Amino acid sequence: MVLIPARMSEAEEQRWVNVMLDKLAAQESKRALGDAELAERARRLSEQYFGGRARPASVRWVTNQNTRWGSCTPAEGSIRLSHRLQGMPEYVVDYVLLHELAHLLVPGHGPRFWELLTAYPRTERARGYLEGVVAAERLPHVPGARGESPAG
Ligand SMILES: [Zn+2]
Repeated sequence: MVLIPARMSEAEEQRWVNVMLDKLAAQESKRALGDAELAERARRLSEQYFGGRARPASVRWVTNQNTRWGSCTPAEGSIRLSHRLQGMPEYVVDYVLLHELAHLLVPGHGPRFWELLTAYPRTERARGYLEGVVAAERLPHVPGARGESPAG
């Protein structure tokens, strides 16, 4: 059973259900990537979606980043991903990686930036997932939001 607060709209509800399903899927394949694997993954994503044009000098996990899922410093070619993404579905991690890779090509979040991201078919779903995570963390007494069992 997945409990949903009565005040959620239908869209929020669907989003929440997706988050819970994704969490279950993530638990099945829970295995944190190391920094080397993360860099290799970024290389492959760049190859697949951006024709290899985005070439980060470094890609790594950081634990001091709690307000952003990912960040990058284009001048240095460095990409940092929040450790909070660890354990989330692969497509979500891939989206954040692609997002930061795209910033190596296009700064800011203008139309050209999102045009790059449309190459990745799960952009919208990943964004919804991350919004759901944030929303869940703000809701008290929601199963799963603070590491409780999602099954009731
Ligand atoms: Zn961005």
